[in-house]
Amino acid sequence: MASSKNGVHILVFPYPAQGHMLSLLHLTHQLSIRGVAITILVTPKNISILTQLLSANPAIQTLVLPFPEHPKIPTGVENVKDIGNHGNGPIILALSKLEGQLIKWFKSHSNPPVAILSDFFLGWTHHLAEKIRIPRIAFYSSGAFLTACFDSLWRNPEAVNPRSEIKFEDLPNAPSFPWDQVPSLFRRYKEAESDPDLELLKNSMAANGLSWGYIFNTFYELENEYLEFLSKKIGYQRIYSIGPLNLLHGPEQMNVKSDSNNGEVFSWLDGCPDGSVLYVCFGSQKVLKKAQMEALANGLERSGVRFILVAKPLTAEQVAEGFGSVPEGFEQRVVGRGLIIRGWAPQVHILSHRAVGGFLSHCGWNSVLEAIAAGVMILGWPMEADQFVDAKLMVDYLGAAVQVCEDGDTVPDSDELAQKITESMSRDRTHRFKAMDLRDKAMEAVKVGGSSNKDMDRLVKELDQLLYLTRPNKNV
Ligand code: UDP
Repeated sequence: MASSKNGVHILVFPYPAQGHMLSLLHLTHQLSIRGVAITILVTPKNISILTQLLSANPAIQTLVLPFPEHPKIPTGVENVKDIGNHGNGPIILALSKLEGQLIKWFKSHSNPPVAILSDFFLGWTHHLAEKIRIPRIAFYSSGAFLTACFDSLWRNPEAVNPRSEIKFEDLPNAPSFPWDQVPSLFRRYKEAESDPDLELLKNSMAANGLSWGYIFNTFYELENEYLEFLSKKIGYQRIYSIGPLNLLHGPEQMNVKSDSNNGEVFSWLDGCPDGSVLYVCFGSQKVLKKAQMEALANGLERSGVRFILVAKPLTAEQVAEGFGSVPEGFEQRVVGRGLIIRGWAPQVHILSHRAVGGFLSHCGWNSVLEAIAAGVMILGWPMEADQFVDAKLMVDYLGAAVQVCEDGDTVPDSDELAQKITESMSRDRTHRFKAMDLRDKAMEAVKVGGSSNKDMDRLVKELDQLLYLTRPNKNV
């Protein structure tokens, strides 16, 4: 394992959304144990997410700056989980107001960071880094396929016609998507009324393409075509694919603590045959409408398959807006065959239990990587954001997942869903073998000498060189 000989100091700036933050915290831990000196920037309400990271790595410093106000963000909201995905644009714009304070902090620091490592939703940090004359490294909590699509969209958003099929003819496999499957941040940008904020958002996203380096939470064997495309066609330099980060040992429970009775879940799983249980969870944010939840519950019941269903508790506001919880009587009808977790599930641990053989998922990238790491086949129901892109990769290009439903508003037909679940969970599906093959490849990638391990070493060595190559400009 390569380590930093110079104790080079970098600033890590995560984006405050569950799906973005966890993987960057895993990477921060890996860099810290390799001797890189780190300051991590958060706003006050997100500091508790760092607890495990900081106790495992006491050398990591924190920089806590107040969350800047924005008219579209209610007071007290500092994380996407508290506002929903539509809050991404405003949160990006609010955080960009930290630039002035950050420049001051750099100027007053006795040993300022020589690079900024920030989430790809914080593209504006490229311009900040330029002002200080240090490199910015973009961290992609997502994969290379999504990045290649995003890059194409944000490079020339004016050329994109929202009324037509969106084709990426240059990309490997020439993918195309109907407009409503294009990543939601871009769709919201194109569909919004003209607003000066939108120009800032576009510039921030486009600035990613100017970064000094690019780190992806993916692995070469999963996305080689797209990693090579990014480096050759788009000219991204210094590409590092270092994932799946969740396969590297990190501080326990960096994930938010689960609030269900886990003992009961695992003792129930212990009594189930290998690969017989379907785990159903739609990520950290998504809740289903009442009719969708009813159709899902009926589908699970009729499938005859063992399952664990994660159903987040709803607020009164969500109930009033038509979101639905598990239907009355459902739990009693499936007793012994189905478990319901009402709250935060220990997803990574559940997926790695030998009894779990399938994962009905919205195809968020972390969920995809966690399924791969566990060798569990995905039954995809992509709904928004990056999920259609992730599902296309897994279902159409890799044949390691099946699609059972699509779109955030669709109410599936319960009988069809039940049939798809029963068929998918049958043992002889080639997709299940492919999922296991991907797990083996992922394990190889993170081993010493594997593709991700080599890239992590290369990253640490190149960061180390920055101590000699960059001299932060204090006269900004
Ligand atoms: N997660 C979890 N328990 C839950 C719901 C989600 O541990 O009950 C974790 C899951 O393991 C994953 C993350 O939350 O690491 C969700 O990220 P993903 O990219 O899949 O979806 P998003 O939440 O960004 O839509």
